[in-house]
Amino acid sequence: MIGCDCPVCTSKDPRDMRCRTCVCVEAGDGTRVISDTPPEFRLLAIKAGIKRADAFLITHCHMDHVAGFDDVRRFNTLAGGAVIPCYGLPGALRSLKAVFPYISEEANGQGLFRPMIRFIPATEPFFVGGMRIVPVPVIHPPADTCGWIFEYGGVRAAHIPDCREIPQESLALLKGVDMLSLNCLRDRPHPTHLSLEKSVEYAAAIGARRTFFVHMSHSLPHAATEERLPQHIRLAYDGLDVTL
Ligand SMILES: [Zn+2]
Ligand SMILES: [Zn+2]
Ligand SMILES: [Zn+2]
Repeated sequence: MIGCDCPVCTSKDPRDMRCRTCVCVEAGDGTRVISDTPPEFRLLAIKAGIKRADAFLITHCHMDHVAGFDDVRRFNTLAGGAVIPCYGLPGALRSLKAVFPYISEEANGQGLFRPMIRFIPATEPFFVGGMRIVPVPVIHPPADTCGWIFEYGGVRAAHIPDCREIPQESLALLKGVDMLSLNCLRDRPHPTHLSLEKSVEYAAAIGARRTFFVHMSHSLPHAATEERLPQHIRLAYDGLDVTL
């Protein structure tokens, strides 16, 4: 956090140096999607060596999840100028287009390159390549917000980076996923995010074999927080790579 000297912000543990949340999901057929483009998206993508994205997904239009969206233009270039789809809830895409009104499927006629994106509202499950993706609506006021379930070859992984509450219908969709990555902001309750106690409760209700908490604030030190958690729940960190 800017201007903070707390133990996490001054920690020597690299896992305490956190960029805003972003995931890249790759299926067995090579299909690759990226969920959210935070302010540090460009740096994260360079560090991870990602050279292709078949689709972008936006969970909701808060700046910590979308401010890096302009940088997706490099993926158009790497794809030989191909338009790339971007999925999100209808309200999230409306807000995103208001933040980036110059982004569309069209190339810029003046030669100044900008992202070329086909915005596709997603309320039902959809396919990108062989990967089935299920939008999972969650409560994270005031933004229209969802998480995703990624399905391929009988394996299901869910990603819910921001939420205060998971409605019953969404909980039913999430039950028994193989892996869950879930919002966990801090210990104290927060009006729009899950607190650690609540995140642990939801993780138990969903029952994934492995759960990773994401989107932590600087009040949760990596090592000390993991000591308080059951073995199958860990804190995610920048660059974490999980194979299912
Ligand atoms: Zn701090
Ligand atoms: Zn948010
Ligand atoms: Zn957020």
